[in-house]
Amino acid sequence: MSRTKIKEILHAKDPSSLAGKQVSVSGWVRTVRGQKSFAFIEVNDGSTLANLQIISEDAETIAQLQTGVSLTATGMLAQSPGKNQALEMQAKEIRVYGPCSAEKYPLQKKRHSFEYLRTIAHLRPRTNTQGAVLRIRSALAFATHLFFQQRGFIYVHTPVITGSDCEGGGEMFRVTTLENLARDPSEDFFGKKTFLTVSGQLEAEIVACALSDVYTFGPTFRAENSNTSRHLAEFWMIEPEMAFADLKADMECAQDYLQFCIRYVLENCMEDLQFFDKFVENGLLERLRHVAESPFAAITYTEAVDILKKAPKKFEFPVSWGLDLQSEHERYLSEEHCKKPVIVTDYPAGIKAFYMRANEDGKTVAAMDILVPKIGEIIGGSQREERLDILEAKIAALGLNREDYWWYLELREFGSVPHAGFGLGFERLVLFATGMENIRDVIPFPRTPGHADF
Ligand code: ATP
Ligand code: MN
Repeated sequence: MSRTKIKEILHAKDPSSLAGKQVSVSGWVRTVRGQKSFAFIEVNDGSTLANLQIISEDAETIAQLQTGVSLTATGMLAQSPGKNQALEMQAKEIRVYGPCSAEKYPLQKKRHSFEYLRTIAHLRPRTNTQGAVLRIRSALAFATHLFFQQRGFIYVHTPVITGSDCEGGGEMFRVTTLENLARDPSEDFFGKKTFLTVSGQLEAEIVACALSDVYTFGPTFRAENSNTSRHLAEFWMIEPEMAFADLKADMECAQDYLQFCIRYVLENCMEDLQFFDKFVENGLLERLRHVAESPFAAITYTEAVDILKKAPKKFEFPVSWGLDLQSEHERYLSEEHCKKPVIVTDYPAGIKAFYMRANEDGKTVAAMDILVPKIGEIIGGSQREERLDILEAKIAALGLNREDYWWYLELREFGSVPHAGFGLGFERLVLFATGMENIRDVIPFPRTPGHADF
């Protein structure tokens, strides 16, 4: 008999119509309650948060069942007298695949700390929290493609290994086949120094300057030694890039995209969101509905600095025009001042990347960051400098090597267009949508300084 996923049973449009049907389900036992000759078995197959309750009256089978055992159960669905579920199964036959020692299996009933669960990443997906995180993560990835594809953006695959020298310098992981790193890079695999990418933006710009609207969605690597709850050494980034677009269009796209993703999970992942609302962040659903419905706040960097200076709050890091905003400042602006996501624009040129478009005032650039409560920066973007002479002057002023940017400059020489884009850290979006607090708990196999286990 072919397998039915538990989600199809418990989330059926009309569960009562399934009563009396014979089905076969497969999964892992969460709990067994009962006696030798009669037991309630809770089975989970990961398709949904809820377990299917299976009733067995076969003493021989029941004797083999423990938390963690894998099985296939075949039997009749019946309306459940219990109030936790609409349907349960009266098992006719249970086939045990893998036994599971009650003494050794770490995922017994009691709740474990997220920290401990990270040390057993091979079993962690079997917990309610991690299962819900992974289902929402998958839904957000799907929503991402849906949003951009519906708007006519082309999905481009930018390289993971980069030979371009114009990216983030010290934060990059070197890729090499040399045994002895003192050897000349010309002897290396690619005949030069290569790194893992820190962003697909520059390559996305190349394609946007031909296909107009594009986006990337891929793994990104940063060797920053920041042990925070919001940084990973390997994370996933979404980077849309739009030709014939300015900062305003960029801000609109970013807000629409974030709201689309939140609406998508509200419409498609309610069971998991209710779980997070109950056990992880009380008030999550209300917060998400508010984000989905109301427009984001928007202020300039200069206004942000004024707000922070007047704030009735002592910050650890100084606030002064020209200094970068720290995470405590970002959180104050979104969490306490605006009480919603806020787009901060027009940062001082000195604290932003060389490619951001110079504003008329000669001091600021057309940058925008979106800051959200609890997390701080979730999106960083800008309009790009499309004027060849201004970009050349900037590269020279920063003491950068013009040769390293030859193709980037040629894009400005041959049919240059105003264009803009942004980068969103996918794991920060998952944090935002679930209320989870540590970025290590929203990616199945986190990489952080000192940790590349599993
Ligand atoms: P932060 O100031 O928080 O370190 P950033 O300014 O270095 O971020 P950008 O270079 O603007 O980040 O990257 C775009 C987006 O990628 C950020 O808004 C954030 O959502 C995400 N991001 C950046 N670094 C990391 C990281 N180490 N781990 C996870 N996400 C990240
Ligand atoms: Mn940024």
